[in-house]
Amino acid sequence: MIGITENLAIIKDFLASSAIEVDRDPQAVKLLAVSKKQSISKIIDAANAGQRDFGENFVQEGLEKIAQTRNMDLVWHFIGRLQNNKTRSVAENFDWVHTVDNSKTARRLSEQRPESLGPLNICLQINIDKELGKSGTDVSTLSELAYICTQLPNIALRGLMCLPAVRTEFTDQRVPFKQLKELADELRSGGIDTDTLSMGMSGDYRAAIFEGSTIVRIGTALFGERY
Ligand SMILES: *Cc1c(COP(=O)(O)O)cnc(C)c1O
Repeated sequence: MIGITENLAIIKDFLASSAIEVDRDPQAVKLLAVSKKQSISKIIDAANAGQRDFGENFVQEGLEKIAQTRNMDLVWHFIGRLQNNKTRSVAENFDWVHTVDNSKTARRLSEQRPESLGPLNICLQINIDKELGKSGTDVSTLSELAYICTQLPNIALRGLMCLPAVRTEFTDQRVPFKQLKELADELRSGGIDTDTLSMGMSGDYRAAIFEGSTIVRIGTALFGERY
């Protein structure tokens, strides 16, 4: 049996010491608890231990968990592949979407976001390793897409996200994360300022933090294997 409270403390310690290793403020790295295919009781355990941000990949599963934790003041991030027929549910129920990779989706999210909730926070997903069949916009179309997002009233462009191909060596793991950071820097010199780099998972968060990650998305290392 996995103790979520203990795991959470251990992971937070790891994240903080990785940040300190490269002279970064540990507070600048947020833990996103990826709760896809994890039970509601584990989510509640994590919430009771102080975890606020949770990530879900599947709309229906996410909506059920959001409904079951209404009174807990949690922040819900959508991190899965987003089909256009599901944008409304996401716009109405989530606080963040990390996986926007085309302007049509961005426009729909902005149109469907209830104004009363304030802008939906979004990250643009980049297909950083140019993998066939993988979600994410191409580097060549990023600046145009980013510009379009800045013009949409009910979304807030917060940053970039990537899900690189798996690499086992630490030095190799750093390469795509460094590239993502450079893309954010390029956007900034073009006048589009963002504050979020959503990068790093259970197997590569240290490399991501070394390269400037501000949100690490951790599932199995926190909750154990998925059902
Ligand atoms: C599942 C998932 C994660 C978490 O993966 P773990 O290896 O369990 O930490 C992070 N990001 C995305 C986009 C995911 O789909």
